[in-house]
Amino acid sequence: MTSGREDLKGQVAIITGASSGIGAAVARDLAEAGMRLVVTARREERLKALAEETGAVWLAGDITAPDLPVRLLDTALGRFGRVDAVFNNAGVMDAGPVDAMDVEQIVRMVRVNVEAAFRMAYHALVHFKREDRGTLLNVSSILGTRVRPHVGWYAGTKFAVEGLTESLRMEFAGTNVRITAIQPGSTLTELQDHWPAHARGARNRKAPLLPEDIARVVRFVLEQPPHVRIPKVLVLPAEQGTP
Ligand code: NDP
Repeated sequence: MTSGREDLKGQVAIITGASSGIGAAVARDLAEAGMRLVVTARREERLKALAEETGAVWLAGDITAPDLPVRLLDTALGRFGRVDAVFNNAGVMDAGPVDAMDVEQIVRMVRVNVEAAFRMAYHALVHFKREDRGTLLNVSSILGTRVRPHVGWYAGTKFAVEGLTESLRMEFAGTNVRITAIQPGSTLTELQDHWPAHARGARNRKAPLLPEDIARVVRFVLEQPPHVRIPKVLVLPAEQGTP
């Protein structure tokens, strides 16, 4: 048993949803810690810029493509020969009263937040189990732990991520595979940029978290020595008392 922080230098992470917000901040922070990265999202120009800045290998694609998780793992193994962590982060959010929601939009959200996140988790864990080593970080939300009106379609996707994460944590207890749910509160990202201004304005917080705040927490989780587990981390801005 060691008591010090794990040195991340030379370790390899896959980051989904890396083109903006939390994923981009995590990529910058882990690169600064010396990790080698494979990053993905749909916006190629953003990924290229991030790769120039961090030295990451990028693979553009829609995370709902069933073969993308395996291609990400293959890319990391081909380029670096190992995968130490998967930051399972790509996500979308739509919310509103039921008659303002489009059912196709809801189903798209389920595909990204649940189906694609489950596929990424599955393939990461098949690899980690084989190696008896690795960390899976699933990005949930405070809305994966409690709800408020109008957000049920999104919260339901994050409750699914929470249920999966907790069951997997139990399954992998006693192994060297670590599983964590990251539960951010309001964070200033592009997540709600496509919402009508009135909906954004109604919930805008004066002082939300910054993506860098979540990145610091992710690094803290990864730097724990092998005998420590952090099953979940709820991170809130100081002013956020309710979901
Ligand atoms: P952003 O909108 O800034 O980032 C979302 C990322 O997901 C982008 O990189 C986007 O890339 C990617 N993404 C979305 N859809 C797809 C897709 N179909 N295929 C591939 N990539 C996709 O938001 P956040 O950084 O806030 O979101 C990151 C995670 O944090 C999400 O899971 C979100 O639910 C969660 N979260 C966010 C909170 C917040 O307040 N911001 C609070 C709690 C949780 P691209 O568009 O280039 O494909």
